[in-house]
Amino acid sequence: MNNIFADSRIRPAIQEGLKKIHFEKPTKVQEKVIPAMLSDLSVVVQAATGSGKTHAYLVPIFNEIDEDAHYVQAIVTLPSRELADQLYQVARQLRDAAGMHFSIAHLAGGTDRERQLEKYQNNTPQLVIATPGRLLDFVQKKVFVVDQVKTFVIDEADMTLDMGFLADIDQVASKMPKDVQIAAFSATIPVKLSNFLRKYMAHPDQIVIDNPSVIAPTIKNDLLDIGSKNRKSVLYKLLTMGQPYLALVFANTKQTVDELTRYLQDQGLKVAKIHGGVTERERKRTLRQVEQGQFQYVVASDLAARGLDIDGVSLVINYEIPRDIEFVIHRIGRTGRNGLSGHAITLIREEEMNRIEDLEKMGVHFDFVEIKNGELVPRKHYRSRENRQVKNHKFDTKLVGYVKKEKRKRKPGYKKKIKRAIQEDNRQKRKLEQRHEIRKAKRLRKRKREQGR
Ligand code: AMP
Repeated sequence: MNNIFADSRIRPAIQEGLKKIHFEKPTKVQEKVIPAMLSDLSVVVQAATGSGKTHAYLVPIFNEIDEDAHYVQAIVTLPSRELADQLYQVARQLRDAAGMHFSIAHLAGGTDRERQLEKYQNNTPQLVIATPGRLLDFVQKKVFVVDQVKTFVIDEADMTLDMGFLADIDQVASKMPKDVQIAAFSATIPVKLSNFLRKYMAHPDQIVIDNPSVIAPTIKNDLLDIGSKNRKSVLYKLLTMGQPYLALVFANTKQTVDELTRYLQDQGLKVAKIHGGVTERERKRTLRQVEQGQFQYVVASDLAARGLDIDGVSLVINYEIPRDIEFVIHRIGRTGRNGLSGHAITLIREEEMNRIEDLEKMGVHFDFVEIKNGELVPRKHYRSRENRQVKNHKFDTKLVGYVKKEKRKRKPGYKKKIKRAIQEDNRQKRKLEQRHEIRKAKRLRKRKREQGR
């Protein structure tokens, strides 16, 4: 296949710029999206973070920018300030590498609004990167006129929907030209989102599906059943068993992130934390320190699971399964980036196995492991254990032997005897199962009590 980066429709300066930032070969998403967008098609792209989707839209946008025309030509929205910050850096990097001269606005809620107002009122940018709320604010205040926008990108569209920003996007989009090219990028396309997109794209010209649920092949994706062990001490063990270059531990709530950070610090580990309750300034500083290699361990909430590009994460641990299981995929995707190898370990208890099954149905493959002599070693898939139980239920070796013997003897009443033996065997099995259920319920109750404390 021809390399789309070398396509004659792409300006030579951009081609050079891509080489300068060491993008030699396009990713699958880039290969599919760039030609569609160059042909002015609107697209809905299902692609995971880490797939290279950012440059899939930046290249066609840059290609169309008229550096001498001072009006807003393209807008990209992202649902969080961190993601907008990150895109701004990436866009500037490509612009500078390509030696292009145009202005990029970077608008996000929480940053100094007055200063931004002043800045952009006097200097209309050609490209706007913004969070939806601040974008709407500036469009309503007429800081920007959007009636000449050629391309509108909604990145992380499902997260935008989840955060309730679609109404803002709707208001801005309604002020754009009728034939604006829209590109929506999303890890998943929930019904609400596709209904919304249909409003602006009667017939989405192109839908590119890139299976977002499959974990990159460079990642070893382990599943560890912690049984009745203490979750925290298993975590500590996993973190200290090898020497991870940078380990990212995900927990579901701010409280758990705080608690784990404290616990690991008490054990003498140098740990940083990232969650929504930490101030913006603090978070930025932490990220910078992590990048400088000052921490080997970071405990985070799902804020860091989507989009944030932290370099060199060699190990991801899912301390617990998030409510929205898709986040497991986003979390795991923080390691094994850019073709580097990565390792992920998800901690579970038997009761949560149905959630793992759901993930498996989505195409996520886990390797089942256990800790033996301070090492992670493979163990049988839980389903192979279940299968064995089902088989045994009918053909228990002891019972099979008994039936064979009785059949051979064929003494009077042998059939009844076999039947009785089978009934007794079933009774024993039921008893075992009940005992197992009672233990499981006890474990659950105990855990709830502990959590309640
Ligand atoms: P994204 O999904 O856009 O966040 O990209 C994930 C990572 O892959 C980023 O660090 C990009 O810099 C990198 N990347 C994207 N496309 C390419 C490419 N064609 N060649 C090399 N690296 C890439």
